[in-house]
Amino acid sequence: MTLSISPDALKAQSIKAAAKSKVSEEEMRQAVRTLLIGLGEDPDREGLIDTPKRMVKALQFMTSGYTKNLEEVVNNAIFHEDSNEMVLVRDIDLFSSCEHHILPIIGKAHIAYIPDGKVIGLSKMARICEMFARRLQVQERLTSQIADGLQEALNPKGVAVVVEATHMCMSMRGVQKPGSWTASSAMRGVFAEDEMKRREFMDMIRHKPSLM
Ligand SMILES: [Zn+2]
Repeated sequence: MTLSISPDALKAQSIKAAAKSKVSEEEMRQAVRTLLIGLGEDPDREGLIDTPKRMVKALQFMTSGYTKNLEEVVNNAIFHEDSNEMVLVRDIDLFSSCEHHILPIIGKAHIAYIPDGKVIGLSKMARICEMFARRLQVQERLTSQIADGLQEALNPKGVAVVVEATHMCMSMRGVQKPGSWTASSAMRGVFAEDEMKRREFMDMIRHKPSLM
């Protein structure tokens, strides 16, 4: 997949997302309570009494990426450096939520770029990934947003992102196919144009590190 989302669209999304919700936390808890009753449960039994509160907190955390934007995540961790070599951070743990079922998407992200006079703090690559993962997502869009986010923050010669993930909505329900993995990629700049570069990246993420 190489869906591209313009930086303007990204900005619009984070502004919209940062807008204050008009629904109170109490109303959200009531909604969870209604869900529990609808499922035939007794929301007043001991084990469930605090579940609405906990579930709202958990959902707020899992969607906390809406309240973040690229600028604050990157937080000036961009440095001048005359390197032209690929920088790769692989096996970044990724936890997201599918927007169709609000069930977990669990996987790994591999992110690479080729600098153009500037590099970014390595942990920031994971932070960018996290900011987009902590939203309601589809894997293809998440992959594109990570690529476009890094492209916007650093303006490098190219960005390559591969996400490999398993979707609980496929494992626990629906087709019930645990163990299936979905891979998606987004290539920008030289990675989109130059097959050699793309292959170099793919070879590097296929190689199993021997360090651990
Ligand atoms: Zn789903």
